[in-house]
Amino acid sequence: MEVDEFDDFAIPEEDLAKMDLPNPVATVVKDVPEKKPAPRLELSDGTFLDHLRIYYYSLFPFKLFQRWLRYDGVQKNYFLFRELSFTLASDAYLRFQSFKDEEELKQEIWRLCPVKIDIGAVYNSKPKDRKSVKPAAFQPQERELVFDIDMTDYDEIRTCCSGASICLKCWDFMTISIKVLDSILREDFGFKHLLWVFSGRRGVHCWVCDESARKLPAEARRAIVSFIEVVKGGEQQSRKVNLPNHLHVSLLRSLRIVDAYFNKSILEKQAPLDDRSRWSKILQLIPDEGIRNTLDARWAKDGGWSSRDRWGDLETEIAEATSKKASKRGGLHNVARDIKFQYTYPRLDDHVTTGLNHLLKAPFCIHPKTGNVCVPIDPADCENFNPLTVPKLDDLVRQIDEFNAANPDSVGVPDYAKTSLKPHVERFEKFVNALSEEQREKLRAQRTREDRMTNAQ
Ligand SMILES: [Zn+2]
Repeated sequence: MEVDEFDDFAIPEEDLAKMDLPNPVATVVKDVPEKKPAPRLELSDGTFLDHLRIYYYSLFPFKLFQRWLRYDGVQKNYFLFRELSFTLASDAYLRFQSFKDEEELKQEIWRLCPVKIDIGAVYNSKPKDRKSVKPAAFQPQERELVFDIDMTDYDEIRTCCSGASICLKCWDFMTISIKVLDSILREDFGFKHLLWVFSGRRGVHCWVCDESARKLPAEARRAIVSFIEVVKGGEQQSRKVNLPNHLHVSLLRSLRIVDAYFNKSILEKQAPLDDRSRWSKILQLIPDEGIRNTLDARWAKDGGWSSRDRWGDLETEIAEATSKKASKRGGLHNVARDIKFQYTYPRLDDHVTTGLNHLLKAPFCIHPKTGNVCVPIDPADCENFNPLTVPKLDDLVRQIDEFNAANPDSVGVPDYAKTSLKPHVERFEKFVNALSEEQREKLRAQRTREDRMTNAQ
């Protein structure tokens, strides 16, 4: 898999040892503001970093960000013991940063202006003091269960774009993946607090924030990944899905989702059977040379067929062959179903999910190459999410300026509410409020239990 240097990463220990942590940046970031309340910044026609600084002063939702990661003080030091890491404009990585509260975090981000913020695990002591404690006293304890789906893993099956490029046609792969994975996590595992986030360029992240998810040990995370994974095998392996005849209830539900999208999103938009170079990729998944040759010859002759026509022909041909008893072997009668899975089912970067201390880019970062904000996505409405029109850094800065010019008397309007970031911050707020509400419920129930026990004594 191609790795985007601005997406998730884990730095090898030997590289970390070479880094002059914790203070390598004073010489890197020039012109850093002193630790004091945010000054009013004047807009300039400036650079990415100028605008990024304005974004951190005026728009980044620090309060919600800290409320989220504090989880209503579910445990003392839950925020303080959390690793955050910063990538600076110089490419320096600062891992194992930690902060006591929103104010300290804000001051440091204002000072450093990181081009990327990553979130790691909650440790059993302060990440920034890790060198002063014994190794056993610095181990990752908890973290959200996270998933990373990247469009580059779809390059072998998408026909419209490749590499870092995306368009609305191939974004359907992400839409289907969100629908399938969201439904598995909620219905098969019972998780409720799922934060889906656009990675800023060509993928999506999912943060499962339920307490039971945060406490999962690494083995349980591996077990969840192997339960979910259906598309398996590297570049050399063409048939990557080989499911049993009778599907587990979870896969039957996924198949219903896949079926709802396959015709439009795959056959029409990706047109994977429109010419021989494309259809040969699908034909090689059929484990019967006779059928492959028959279809190839017929499709080469009937040049006017669409991918939908040819898919219908493929299904008919396979159904006819499998109605003859002798052809039922070799998984032939499930091949059309398995191809559908191969062309739609989520392709996970499993290291991100299984590694408890793996870093993942924080929501509301700005992607340094696209300028896009990594905004939350509503899974129930993800088919209407458009990655090409998400708020961009430069636009947001301009929108604040325009609002202020058009409303010179407005006071008390927070800057995010002057921009297209507003609905995205509100979505995040709703998510954080739901977590808070559940935590309060738990505390109320606990108090009631304790009261009962006291009264019974
Ligand atoms: Zn595309």
